[in-house]
Amino acid sequence: MTAFPLPPDATIGIVGGGQLGRMSALAAARLGYRCHILSPEADCPAARVSAGHTLGDYEDPAALEAFAAQVDVVTFEFENVSAAGLERLAARKPVRPGVEILRISQDRAAEKRFLNGIGVPTAPWRLVDSLAALHRAVDDVGLPSILKTTRLGYDGKGQAALREPADLAAAFARLMPQPLVLEGFVDFACEISVIVARGADGAISAFDPVENRHRDHILDLTLAPARIPTGTAAEATEIARRIAEGLDLVGLLAVEMFVTADNRVLVNEIAPRPHNSGHWTIDACPASQFELHIRAVAGLPLPMAGRHSDAVMKNLVGPDDIALWPAILAMPGLIPHHYGKTEARPGRKLGHVTRLFPRDALPGPFGIADALGALNG
Ligand code: AMP
Repeated sequence: MTAFPLPPDATIGIVGGGQLGRMSALAAARLGYRCHILSPEADCPAARVSAGHTLGDYEDPAALEAFAAQVDVVTFEFENVSAAGLERLAARKPVRPGVEILRISQDRAAEKRFLNGIGVPTAPWRLVDSLAALHRAVDDVGLPSILKTTRLGYDGKGQAALREPADLAAAFARLMPQPLVLEGFVDFACEISVIVARGADGAISAFDPVENRHRDHILDLTLAPARIPTGTAAEATEIARRIAEGLDLVGLLAVEMFVTADNRVLVNEIAPRPHNSGHWTIDACPASQFELHIRAVAGLPLPMAGRHSDAVMKNLVGPDDIALWPAILAMPGLIPHHYGKTEARPGRKLGHVTRLFPRDALPGPFGIADALGALNG
């Protein structure tokens, strides 16, 4: 039986071996915990900084049993682990956040149904299971719109933009036979996210909304805080809080949202784990998203998710970005984070850099290139 709060020296099991697990494990170590990773990849970023590693598949009963035997509590660092595997773990050890939350966040349709059910606005959407249904959905939602697979999409994968009626058949043929949703295209002014932690006692701690900019569908820059009106920021934070409560979350949750030109906030998607748009918190906050994640999972008190500095975070994606590593190390004011990945494939997140600014002194949009210096050139 696991007793909470976990004492220092307890072992936190993390399902998944990527950089989110790595940075969670580093935060856990600072609180005195060991981490034990379950991942099919030997020498993965998380296992390199953890006390133990069960090398095995997320579906493999023997690997799941061996992993469960080593840990006091289980959490996960990406959503595409199988809910069935996590359920097997839940029979042995507490899983935080719970399996039902994972199930909802793995399925765009379930997620939108849940969000709309608690009164949280999203882009208009329809389930699509046939070409005829797609035509009906386009009649309802209009064009332009975006067709997405309900499962296993990330960084823009599993999506097709529909601009005109002639696009429908090819997009449908490309994405099926998986279940699909059609989403109305949101002509957003900016994309933001809010990261919220919630403890087993219901205590909530949320970071201020940040602004996210993408390059080739992959997060490129996060500006903290988002440059949006105070009322819009408060609304976004309130939405994140409502979602965390609606899910009865114990753990950490990222909520990605669109802000429209008239400052309406629409939720795009949620992720019940640390998020790329929260990496800046390691350097700009007394307690990072990873510390809040570990604290919530371990049953420790949650500190305020405040920041001492404003920040810009830039992802290092693929071989071209990581080739800048020596220059980054030589550049004063850049805080380097390398994930220790052995293979620098194009499109792979290999590290990030953070630059801090005094609070409320984040440069305007034209100052960002300066802020990042040669990196953005
Ligand atoms: P997603 O995989 O749903 O996070 O989508 C990846 C990116 O595609 C988002 O960050 C947006 O930039 C864009 N996108 C997704 N859905 C929409 C939408 N309904 N309207 C406009 N842009 C979208």
